[in-house]
Amino acid sequence: MRTEQRAGSAPTGIIRRYFDHLPVSDETPIVTLHEGGTPLLHSERLSEEMNAEVWLKYEGLNPTGSFKDRGMTLAISKAVEEGSEAVVCASTGNTSASAAAYAGRAGLTCAVLIPKGNVALGKLAQALVHGARVLEIDGNFDLALNLTKEMAQAYPITLVNSVNPFRIEGQKTAAFEIVESLGRSPDLHVMPVGNAGNITAYWRGYREAKRAGWSQTLPKMFGFQAEGAAPIVRGEPVADPKTVATAIRIGNPASWIGATEASASSGGGIYSVRDKEIVESYRNLAEEGLFVELASAAGVAGLRQLKQRDLVPPGCVVTCVLTGHGLKDPDWAIAGAARPKLVPAELGPILQELDLG
Ligand SMILES: *Cc1c(COP(=O)(O)O)cnc(C)c1O
Repeated sequence: MRTEQRAGSAPTGIIRRYFDHLPVSDETPIVTLHEGGTPLLHSERLSEEMNAEVWLKYEGLNPTGSFKDRGMTLAISKAVEEGSEAVVCASTGNTSASAAAYAGRAGLTCAVLIPKGNVALGKLAQALVHGARVLEIDGNFDLALNLTKEMAQAYPITLVNSVNPFRIEGQKTAAFEIVESLGRSPDLHVMPVGNAGNITAYWRGYREAKRAGWSQTLPKMFGFQAEGAAPIVRGEPVADPKTVATAIRIGNPASWIGATEASASSGGGIYSVRDKEIVESYRNLAEEGLFVELASAAGVAGLRQLKQRDLVPPGCVVTCVLTGHGLKDPDWAIAGAARPKLVPAELGPILQELDLG
């Protein structure tokens, strides 16, 4: 079989690239949109501010605009291998966007169950264009998730929420890429935490990279929840989580244990940041050319907090994950911004308006 790849480069897509480190075999049909291989960008401004070497893993450049694609390529490939006819998830966000795209690529039916009255149409746009069957359930999110679990137990339907173990396996490859780019592990790794699957995945990735001899050390893992949705920080589920960062608005994380294990055994921590700090970092990143989701900015806001707590040693190497693309939520981006000013179609007034005349 001819394998798709970019001219003159290594195979693209995380399954081909890390074949020997993932639960796949020659029998696994690879369903890919060439996810992964995202840029690790050096941030001059944050490096200066932190007196450290700060690198940003820009996961918004994955095919559907978030890191969810790394897990979804594997989850959907395994679903096809196992003979599933359909996949299902309970989500109104990036999971359903990714599931819909990869299911479409594989020719599988994709069902998305969303809780009634909780329809964030902006975020559902991707699921809809990729042809997912979106059903609104007369009940809350927990009920929707329970129904998807029942569907997966009784029928040849695969659940692709993050309880699917292949999701975390695929997502660990981002840590492999960081180690490959830096030629070592970072000293500190900082990221947002919602359902906590991703921090679990990065920690696994860093440990496997060390075991494989690609790095000699392990980073301290720091995860940041939003203050109004910080169950791990509080030590108990939050019944009504609130934050502007919808992708981390989670009251009872599925991978809670994975997150505490990562932070405790690496000497890091799970803390919270306020919405105001998230928005400020969101704007700073945008000014530096990086348009991210609000949730993605929680990691950078968290790094600033670590600096204040004196937890960023001078000159250390830091990686921060920017989990999703800002275009996912354009309403937020333009809210409060000044509307473009109307000027005559003449050079003079234009230059004057721009203070360039
Ligand atoms: C899913 C998601 C998160 C949270 O990741 P978890 O694995 O649930 O902790 C953060 N940011 C974005 C953009 C996401 O899509």
